[in-house]
Amino acid sequence: MEIYLIRDGRKWPLTLEESQEKARLERPVCECGETGVVGTGLQYSSDGRNYEATGCCAGCKKVLGRIIAEPDTVFGAREDDAVLNGRCRVY
Ligand SMILES: [Zn+2]
Repeated sequence: MEIYLIRDGRKWPLTLEESQEKARLERPVCECGETGVVGTGLQYSSDGRNYEATGCCAGCKKVLGRIIAEPDTVFGAREDDAVLNGRCRVY
């Protein structure tokens, strides 16, 4: 899965920590120097392919931008969840 932070029109790659509670930037983008980013308000992207969340600094809690997570999936995040949750589909 690819995860990145969108801030100031740039894509900043994120590495998910083992606990999966927060992700790390290669270098800080927040003025406080923290590299940890936590996501709140997880939702599907408008096309249903990715997950999106508001990315906040793990240190000072300031909103830094949008977190986009692109799952390695054929159908997209929304379709995968629908399939995994057992909804019957006819293809
Ligand atoms: Zn901060």
